[in-house]
Amino acid sequence: MLNLYRRAVLGAAGVPGVETLARRHGWRFGVGRFVAGETLADALPALRALTDDGRRVLVDVLGEYVRDVEAARAMGAAVAATVAGLAEAGMTPVVSVKPTQLGLGLDPALARDLAGGVARAAEQAGGRVCLDMEDHRYVDRTLALLADVRADGAPHTSTVLQAYLHRTPADLVALLAASPAGSEVRIVKGAYHEGADVALQELPAIRRAFVAACETAWRAGARVNVATHDEGLILETTAFARGAAVAADRYELQLLFGVKPALQRRLVAEGHPVRVYVPIGADWYGYFSRRLAERPANAAVVVRGLFG
Ligand SMILES: Cc1cc2nc3c(=O)[nH]c(=O)nc-3n(C[C@H](O)[C@H](O)[C@H](O)COP(=O)(O)OP(=O)(O)OC[C@H]3O[C@@H](n4cnc5c(N)ncnc54)[C@H](O)[C@@H]3O)c2cc1C
Repeated sequence: MLNLYRRAVLGAAGVPGVETLARRHGWRFGVGRFVAGETLADALPALRALTDDGRRVLVDVLGEYVRDVEAARAMGAAVAATVAGLAEAGMTPVVSVKPTQLGLGLDPALARDLAGGVARAAEQAGGRVCLDMEDHRYVDRTLALLADVRADGAPHTSTVLQAYLHRTPADLVALLAASPAGSEVRIVKGAYHEGADVALQELPAIRRAFVAACETAWRAGARVNVATHDEGLILETTAFARGAAVAADRYELQLLFGVKPALQRRLVAEGHPVRVYVPIGADWYGYFSRRLAERPANAAVVVRGLFG
């Protein structure tokens, strides 16, 4: 049932009229619940409130699937400015980028230049970059980009593997073998609309794959970013970490800005390292559509915005 809802929302989100309407009435649709601001300056109060509260932050400058080289360069400049702005504000620049926002779908060499520049700048300021994982067509190219960026002066760059993809167990083994000891990897369920030929379709199987991926990464000595709001999965993976004597600096629980804030606070109070993924920027449409697709109750936010 949830699968049907998710397909319907992601399908509707691709209809041009829906996108135009949503972009025009953005913040009225409740975008502000999931996006901290259109600029870093707008978002800084929310970022500071999170860090004051014991949560770490990971900033994502929204944007994806850019259509031309100029747009990719503009996104590269926006991410670089955000890295600099975070450092100036006294915050460690830990940022996520979507490879297609830096032109991976257009020109891998351009994406390598842009991602490499941003990742080196982040590491010089004591932070690092994570390459988010997008739909399955980009997995090989994202893993190749990761290797290039790491080799080109930003060894702490990391990426994400999606538990729902059939290929992930093999990708994880290859990634762990190619990574320096103690490297980070983020494990997620996967947010895109993928077919049965490439991805598991049933939640129980995806959850089992998620746990297995975390355990494999920990056993190999990696630092695992357990990115989920699924309390059962958080319990199961942290219990494994405790049982396997995984030190607190070898994992982080990562959750999205605006999703389950009470759970985020509780996890901090229980002593877990918690990082909140905080999106900023004007290009929020794709991100917001995926958040609506994850939970029917979120659609109520939009309906209230329209008629409230
Ligand atoms: C830090 C972080 C980074 C991510 N990076 C990527 C990435 O690079 N690539 C990628 O494909 N996916 C990424 N994702 C998204 C991920 O793949 C899932 O789509 C998303 O996390 C929802 O799955 P879940 O594991 O939280 O569990 P679900 O089974 O979806 O949900 C578990 C519980 O959390 C609640 N919940 C979940 N989502 C929401 C929401 N939007 N609003 C309110 N409640 C909600 C549900 O109602 C349910 O109670 C990321 C997620 C996080 C947390």
